[in-house]
Amino acid sequence: MFDKFKRRSYKLEYIDTGNYTPEEYEDCIGELQFVNRWMGDAHSLKATLFPEIESNSLRSFSILDVGAGSGELLRVAATWARETNRGFRGVGLELNERSAESIIEESSGFPEIGSVRGDALKLPFHDSEFDYVMCSLFTHHFVEEQIVQILREMSRVAKRRIFVIDLHRDPIAYFLYTTLGKLILKNRLIRHDGALSILRSFKTEELLELAQRAGLTDIWVERHFPSRLVLSASARKPDIKPRVNADEHKSDLRSSAFIRGLNFDVIIAGAGPAGSSAAIHLARNGIRVLLVEQKKFPRAKLCGEFISPECRRHFENLGVSQAMTAAGPTALVETVFYSSRGHHVTIPSSWFGGPAALGLSRAVMDDVLLRRARECGVSVLEGATVNEPVLKGRDVLGVRLRIDGQEREYHAPLTIDATGRARILSRKLNAGEPKSRAGLIAFKVHLRNTRVAPNACEIYFYPEGYGGLSTIEGDICNLCFIISAEQVRRHHSDPETVMRELVMKNRRAAYTLEHAERESEWLSASWERFGRQRPSPANGLLTIGDSAAFIDPFTGSGMLMAFESGELAAHVILRHRDTQTVEAQYAAAYVQKFDSRLRISGLLRRAAFKPRLAGLGIALCSGSEQFRNRLVRATRSPSLELP
Ligand SMILES: Cc1cc2nc3c(=O)[nH]c(=O)nc-3n(C[C@H](O)[C@H](O)[C@H](O)COP(=O)(O)OP(=O)(O)OC[C@H]3O[C@@H](n4cnc5c(N)ncnc54)[C@H](O)[C@@H]3O)c2cc1C
Repeated sequence: MFDKFKRRSYKLEYIDTGNYTPEEYEDCIGELQFVNRWMGDAHSLKATLFPEIESNSLRSFSILDVGAGSGELLRVAATWARETNRGFRGVGLELNERSAESIIEESSGFPEIGSVRGDALKLPFHDSEFDYVMCSLFTHHFVEEQIVQILREMSRVAKRRIFVIDLHRDPIAYFLYTTLGKLILKNRLIRHDGALSILRSFKTEELLELAQRAGLTDIWVERHFPSRLVLSASARKPDIKPRVNADEHKSDLRSSAFIRGLNFDVIIAGAGPAGSSAAIHLARNGIRVLLVEQKKFPRAKLCGEFISPECRRHFENLGVSQAMTAAGPTALVETVFYSSRGHHVTIPSSWFGGPAALGLSRAVMDDVLLRRARECGVSVLEGATVNEPVLKGRDVLGVRLRIDGQEREYHAPLTIDATGRARILSRKLNAGEPKSRAGLIAFKVHLRNTRVAPNACEIYFYPEGYGGLSTIEGDICNLCFIISAEQVRRHHSDPETVMRELVMKNRRAAYTLEHAERESEWLSASWERFGRQRPSPANGLLTIGDSAAFIDPFTGSGMLMAFESGELAAHVILRHRDTQTVEAQYAAAYVQKFDSRLRISGLLRRAAFKPRLAGLGIALCSGSEQFRNRLVRATRSPSLELP
């Protein structure tokens, strides 16, 4: 049943074959305008192009709408320009003479709108003639080679960005259109072509790939309600402006054995989810990236291995959804928090913005991401330990690393610290930073024969700590728990003893872990602090993922923050290009996006370590869905739509 959604359909729509009467055509125009334009495209335009114009503080702008129909979207743009006191010039391009005329007829109150007859595959305009070039519900009428050519033409004629709005090939949209739609829509053309146009349309990764084939840069594909995808890309070529001229520094670089010069645009230290995802975003947009990782992948990693539902959007954008699914993760539909006395409260995964979280080992997840980074053209060094930044005063010029017993230097205008809680580059910059003693220790192990509920992540609170148990791929369970270092010392630093004597003080944990058998070695890690560090601690250096901020693990959102901050850094880099602006913009955007959720999570953690407070919290949560909902919201991005 779902097979027809796997690949685009190439069946022709009646509108493409001419299989309609003039009456049917006239009749369908009104209905079509309503369905296609006002239901989704005007909304998508307002959510993407208009904020872009505002963020660039443009007092006037021009738009070319390719395949403009009768010009509705140009009139939406003209109306917005009037309302916001901006100058505007809009041109609609149509192949068909009648349609080109109808743009002028319908826009009688808008002298700023004109129309031109022409071919989208060979736009009759000069390079960079319009600020923005857009098209809507247009590309699905073409085959891939033609779309690539259209995108190239749009990018040639645009000065700033291009925007492509089209349908998402989504079974739900198709189902709704062919059931509810039939009740509302009477016109034969609309019924047939509307349903077929969903099947002819795109998945996110297909649009991304087409944009890459067209050589576009700074590519973004966003989903918009209802069932729309918006592809936007820069019309400019990549070129990151360094803060300083690299040649000035060549004489300062130490040994002649070191590799010299600006080898890369961006160097990323650490190939966890933050580092790999940032690398993928950048490389796909033509940026030369070096990704340095001290371990050889696949490698086990201490983590709860609960991939929150929001991460699936990131998987899709990064082009790794299929590979992740192929690894056979467990769908986790709820998280159940158990107080030590056995009271519990359940949070459905759907509250986080998706049907299910995923249980998948970090060995698999991180390996898939790293392989994808290579595929996208990232240069990867595995088994290479970054030791320190290359510095000139407070300017970071790259990294010094050790590989196969040799020390090397690599240089770039921008370096990103994605080394997780190690924060190796930021730490080296602040050599005088007082070291506090590790207050907490975490352990992790893979187990068989537990009694954890099959599609749930269970969280257990106990004195001075908490832990999580859930199923990952291959029917194995991951147990990960945190406990005060003091307690670990008291229990001879033996994880098995800590598990039996402390974790299993929680009644539910005692039941689920009673017959558990170990399937892997224990991993452990200690750390001294939670919370945020500086997003740009030196000139030419950004921090992402745990290097920028370590959020409390029971929120299950550390990996999400890694993906979000990697994406944010890439977005800012691609948009601004100039190192100095990138540092300032990234720091400001980071604080705005993450600070409040870090604060709330900090408060929740303090409660989590006090069994009475944790018990009280669970009681409050189980009594009030509204309270539960607010707490969940507070640990996530404000843009999430929760019930
Ligand atoms: C106990 C515990 C449980 C957790 N459970 C969850 C959970 O269930 N769900 C969730 O979403 N989050 C969880 N987290 C948080 C999550 O693990 C992190 O937020 C996430 O891994 C951060 O990703 P990252 O890419 O920033 O760093 P990391 O994943 O730590 O990756 C950093 C990478 O840098 C490499 N590296 C380090 N030093 C160097 C160096 N000097 N040179 C080169 N490479 C280096 C490392 O080898 C590593 O591969 C948990 C964390 C802890 C401590």
